[in-house]
Order: sequence, then C-alpha cells, then structure tokens
Amino acid sequence: MSDLNILGAACVACVRDRGGARRGAEQRELDLVFDAAVAIRDGVIAAVGPSAEVLRSCGEDGVPVLDASGLSVVPGLIECHSHPLFAGERHAEYAERLAGASLAEIAARGGGIWSSVLATRAASDDQLLGALKHAYPRILAGGVTTLEVKSGYGLTLSEELRHLELLGRSRTLTPLELVITFLGAHVVPAGLDSDAYTNEVLEMLPRALELGVCAFHDITCERGLFSPDQALSLFDRSRALSVPTRCHADAWASSEGWQTAVAGGAISAEHLTYTPDDEIRAVGATDTIAVLLPQAELIYMTDRRANARLFIEQDVPVAVATDYCSSIHATSLPVTLGMAAPWFRMTPAEVIVAGTLNAAYALGLAGDRGSIEPGKRGDLTLLSMAHPSELCLAVGQEVISDVIIGGTIVHSTRTQRGEQ
Ligand SMILES: [Zn+2]
Repeated sequence: MSDLNILGAACVACVRDRGGARRGAEQRELDLVFDAAVAIRDGVIAAVGPSAEVLRSCGEDGVPVLDASGLSVVPGLIECHSHPLFAGERHAEYAERLAGASLAEIAARGGGIWSSVLATRAASDDQLLGALKHAYPRILAGGVTTLEVKSGYGLTLSEELRHLELLGRSRTLTPLELVITFLGAHVVPAGLDSDAYTNEVLEMLPRALELGVCAFHDITCERGLFSPDQALSLFDRSRALSVPTRCHADAWASSEGWQTAVAGGAISAEHLTYTPDDEIRAVGATDTIAVLLPQAELIYMTDRRANARLFIEQDVPVAVATDYCSSIHATSLPVTLGMAAPWFRMTPAEVIVAGTLNAAYALGLAGDRGSIEPGKRGDLTLLSMAHPSELCLAVGQEVISDVIIGGTIVHSTRTQRGEQ
C-alpha cells in the first residue's frame, strides 16, 4: 500500500458514490474535474480535485509523483463476470457455428461448455494455473483492478473444490484483486437429470463455502438447464448459508431468469439477452444489477440483444462485463465498454459507470472501491486520452496508460510510448 500523487490530469471522472448503484439519469453522470489531481496515502485516496487544491493539502516533498498531463483518470475498472479457469479449445466449434451449425447441434456432438468441462477435469493443477497466468496480465493490461472469477468447469464436488482452491492460490500470481464465485450450477452435466444435479449442487454449496475463498454463489436460470424452481431452491439454500448470489439468466432463451434472479435476491443477473421487455417492465426498478455482456452476444451471434435502454429507463442499475471464458477469449474491458455503447445504445458516461461504480456494487465492494473520493482504495485507471468518453471512439486501440492498485503502479505503457 503506497503513497502517490497523480498530478495535472486533463480530467478525472470521480463517479461519486451517492450511496447506491447509479440508475436512470444518474448513470449518465461522471462527476468530472478538469486539470485535476488525486493524492493517495497508504493505498487510500486522501484527496481529489483541481490540481492546485490537492497540491495545497497533499503536496508534501518525498511523495512519488505521476505526471498525468494529457491523460484522464477513471476509477479502477472492475470486471464483474469472468471464467478464466478452463482448458481445451473451442475454435473449431466456433467455425462450425459461423458456418451455420446451431448450438443444439454443437451440443449434440459433445461441444459447448461440456467439452470445456471434460478438458478442464483432465487438466493438471499446473496447466490450470498456467491458464490463469495467461489471462490475468492481459486483463490487468486492460485497466482492470478488481476481477471476479468463477468456477464452473468442474461440476463434481471434487473438481469444483479443486478449481476453487486453485483460484484461491492464484491470488499470488497477480496484483489484481480477485473475487471468487462458486458456479456449480453452470450447466447440467451430460447424462444427469437437472433435478438430480440441482440436488448435487445443493450438497456441494456448503462444502464449497467451507474452503473460505468464495464471495458469491452463481446460479444459472435458463431454459433447458435450470428452471426457475430449481434456481429458487439454490437461492434459498444460499440465503440459509448467508452467501450472496448472482445469476446467469436468459442468455439463450427467455427463461424467467430476470424475475427469478430478482425474486431470489441476487445482487446481479447477467446476460439478460432474451429477457422480454414485458418482464423488464413488470419487474420494474430493482436493487439487483443487470450485468450485460455485449461480447458474449457478438460471439454467440444471438438474434437479439439485452435491452439496456429499457433497463435504464426502468431505473435498473446496469453494469457491463467481458465474460472471458472458454468460448470468449476477450480480455479487454475497455474494448467491451467501447463496444457496449453502440451495441446497447448506451452513452459513454453510462458505460464508464457500468465498468466502475456499478460493477463495484455488482460485486458488493462499493464500500471501498468503484469511485474516486477520499476514503476509497487508491485503485485508478489512467486513460491515454484527455476526456474519458473518448474511450468509446477508440474501440480496440491502446487506451491504457497506467493501472494503479492501492496506490501502486502495477502496469504502465509509458515506456512503450517513450515517456518516463
Ligand atoms: Zn458467464
């Protein structure tokens, strides 16, 4: 945990925490300060504001200085949906899908998530840690400071416990703050009936929690996988065991996933590609955060998109995530955020809130991150542009200057740019 003064930034987007995830019109506000500075002491933000003011209160000698001229500063980006622990290849299956094969045809040939489950079960601990070592630096280089990581390619008690334990061990591989999620109810294993497997997950859950690494239980509610009733039984057990929940919902079909996630008390529901407009209206405003995954919709070639505009209109807080997994090797949250703007017709400010404060709320971590204000962690992402909204004009370009976690610079492209 370090001291650092970030001085002379063209713009700082504070995204102030007003006591809840941003919703409706509030999601369009970034609380910008121009010609600004941020002071971090012992890893915690001590001051933010116009450079002259911050220098008056925190300009003491001996504190390392980062010159942010020409740059903009946003709260450390937060990736709230990823599945980086997997083995196996799915590019051939993607080629088949691009050539017209349906998901059902791929699944009937043993493809899809199930093929990743078999490959992941067969992989050694070192191979799986190698997969994490591959993913983490790339995700960090995209400006992410906190990363949610799920199990879910094991689907037996012993394999799920092994994967969760490896995710716990992987904290030593990266400066990223990891948030670990148990996803036993990812898909139904081949040859098992979904009722029988739901019962297995109910039995796995306390064992998974005993490991002491899981922050969340993620539950799928999807036609052909887990029904609303099955999902609700998993929500109930989670509540009894005091573990907060998230939900994979309506990714492939309208499945009552959104209303089930809200009824189950999930902190977030994710995908929501096929959630019907009527259901969004009927459920109305929620504390459950809608986590939308545009790259998943792109790669899965879904024939509709999550209705982000309607969620926002209904005062549902919206977050955006990348969904790095065995079939989507997308590590860049900035690309995902930039893409989310035209994909969902979200404004640049809405997508920046979606990848910072609202993502922090989606992980239950807004108490100490997600915004730039005194008392929050010194987690910042510096963008190589004078205004953060330019992020959306630079999709796929190099947009990250520096990544700072707890006041320590953990990634920088300055030397590549010939700067000190
Ligand atoms: Zn997922």
